[in-house]
Amino acid sequence: MHFQFDTIGVVHSPFKQKFAIPRQPGLSNAKASIEMLAPYNDPQALLGIEQFSHLWLSFIFHQNISKGWSPLVRPPRLGGNQKIGVFATRSSFRPNPVGLSVVRFERLRQSDEQLFIDIEGVDLLDQTPIIDIKPYIPYADSLSDATGGFAHDSPSPLLSVIFSAEAQSQLDRFEQRYPDLRKLIDQVLSQDPRPAYKKDKIDNKVYAVSLYDFDIRWQVDNSTCQVLEILKL
Ligand code: SAM
Repeated sequence: MHFQFDTIGVVHSPFKQKFAIPRQPGLSNAKASIEMLAPYNDPQALLGIEQFSHLWLSFIFHQNISKGWSPLVRPPRLGGNQKIGVFATRSSFRPNPVGLSVVRFERLRQSDEQLFIDIEGVDLLDQTPIIDIKPYIPYADSLSDATGGFAHDSPSPLLSVIFSAEAQSQLDRFEQRYPDLRKLIDQVLSQDPRPAYKKDKIDNKVYAVSLYDFDIRWQVDNSTCQVLEILKL
């Protein structure tokens, strides 16, 4: 059987490239909105959604569509060198490129003919197509006896993030328009987005990541990440 789905909404997110997007949702400063598309921008279709604190989003890994899939993948959580079956992972390269993320519901926002759902804690690229939205239901979705396999509970160690004097003064300038920028940079970089093979070695590389319309340059020394500069694109 073949199925065809409509995009019901499009995500507007600070993440403009895949590099450094969190591997799962949950960063409180990763704020985004879903712009509902006609005919799904009918407020009646969202009536009652404010009763829920969290939503499940089904979406398309649209940037991977032409990239295919393979039965075995190497989860970054396993250091990138151990293979495991695609259906035992949350890999974004899947036979049907469908993703599932739980996000915090913030508010519904209407302007002119447009209807937006503001959300928090996304792991989604800007422009990600949403194909369904459902409420998160704690009694059914939160399972106290669940086990996490290789994606066990203990989080990877976090980097401490510091800002150079230059980055600090650039942040100060942008703060009024982007009040959450510093916290978002801090949360994203503390997760150490570098490829696994770089992590236990001396690494002099200057990395760049795009958040909102900024190009952020940073470097890691042991367990400290220094933000070198924040350039407006
Ligand atoms: N929580 C979802 C799930 O479990 O289905 C996504 C998990 S997947 C490991 C998260 C990664 O998908 C992000 O770190 C980012 O690199 C990638 N990603 C997010 N949005 C995407 C999109 N629209 N197209 C392709 N890759 C995307």
